[in-house]
Amino acid sequence: MIKTKANKTRTGGSEKVSFQAPRGMKDILPTEWPLWEKVFKIGKEVAEFYGFSRIETPILENTDLFIRGVGEATDIVEKEMYSLRTKGGDHFSLRPELTAPVVRSYIQNGMGRLPQPVRLYYMSPVFRHENPQAGRYRELHQFGLEVLGGESDPVYDAQVIIAAYRFFEELKLKNVIVQINSIGCRVCRPNYVRRLTDYYKNKKICKDCERRLKTNPLRLLDCKNEICQPLKAGAPSILNSLCVNCKAHFKGVLEYLDEVAIPYTLNPLLVRGLDYYSRTVFEVFPEGGDLAIAAGGRYDYLFEMLGGRPTPAVGMAAGIERAIEVGLAAGGLTVPKPRPRIFLVHVGDITKRKALVLIEDFRKSGIGVAESLGKDSLSAQLERAAKMEAPLALIFGQKEAFEDNIIIRDMTTGVQEAVPITMVVEEVKKRLKSA
Ligand SMILES: [Zn+2]
Ligand SMILES: [Zn+2]
Repeated sequence: MIKTKANKTRTGGSEKVSFQAPRGMKDILPTEWPLWEKVFKIGKEVAEFYGFSRIETPILENTDLFIRGVGEATDIVEKEMYSLRTKGGDHFSLRPELTAPVVRSYIQNGMGRLPQPVRLYYMSPVFRHENPQAGRYRELHQFGLEVLGGESDPVYDAQVIIAAYRFFEELKLKNVIVQINSIGCRVCRPNYVRRLTDYYKNKKICKDCERRLKTNPLRLLDCKNEICQPLKAGAPSILNSLCVNCKAHFKGVLEYLDEVAIPYTLNPLLVRGLDYYSRTVFEVFPEGGDLAIAAGGRYDYLFEMLGGRPTPAVGMAAGIERAIEVGLAAGGLTVPKPRPRIFLVHVGDITKRKALVLIEDFRKSGIGVAESLGKDSLSAQLERAAKMEAPLALIFGQKEAFEDNIIIRDMTTGVQEAVPITMVVEEVKKRLKSA
């Protein structure tokens, strides 16, 4: 017997069960899909313009992939993964992000043999067991870009940021701003971490940070706890600790962004919660918002952590739910109108059969036909046609069917004309074109 958590209420002996979507997860309803498709299309166009090809990885991956690839001492792995054990004893997790899976796929499929860098994009659901709150879901969708392989050239960092920025621009988000920082490399970061640890050592910090000070000190800089907030201002800046190479790399990224006038601000407190980042890290914010709509960075060490050869890479992921919310609130993003379809009205059983055949003829010529073949009342059908703003209605009555005719009714003017059924597709085409 499997235990369930559906709500049960007893009503007069019979048990009624009502199911809800899991907390923090939601349906994308038919009324919402046109907007989602529009956003997906914009993402696809931007990604493909900049030379990215789509990839999709399994929703489940080996839990170890995320422990190694995201880092044990991160909120994602510590608290937010949906993990399960299969009957065969394997430990799997619903992916909380796609960078580690994409790198896994690159290594597994030998993409290192392709011309470098390999540019991949995705538009995929990820799962995080966070506390649900405004703009945050436990199942969310990410639009992501990854540039894998090649050199650790700052131009790739800039290109990822430019593409992310263009994505939001196409969604009509206004005054989007990029916050950017460099967190150095294996050479210079240890010095900075030492300085940071020294700074925090004898200060009063929250419980989480006491632990982070040992496991992942950089993360003290993005602690939201009010005990820790005021301490950030006095913390040493990582920008003063960068080695010559990291400094040059960061300068390169900023210069490329200046070149195409992408607005950014330096934020030396920005470190990102994930272990695998090196050098460039960035977050993208909507106007007046303090929740990031995209985030990313360089991750030159991730390949080695996942058993691959050292391979430089940089990428970003944008939250689609949040981008849609911000876009709608800003007023620039609108729900697209459905493509107009003609409406086929039928009267009686014989016409219903002939109507089915006629619908197939329209399908072949790419004209969308709406109908309500299950309903027989003429007025109910015409009402539907008007409601869905069909430009034309075809009225198929008993008499017309007998004469192999059909009536074309212009729904705006109300003008009707009977045409031979063999001509109707052509006639409709003509009228839709001139409308
Ligand atoms: Zn460095
Ligand atoms: Zn703290």
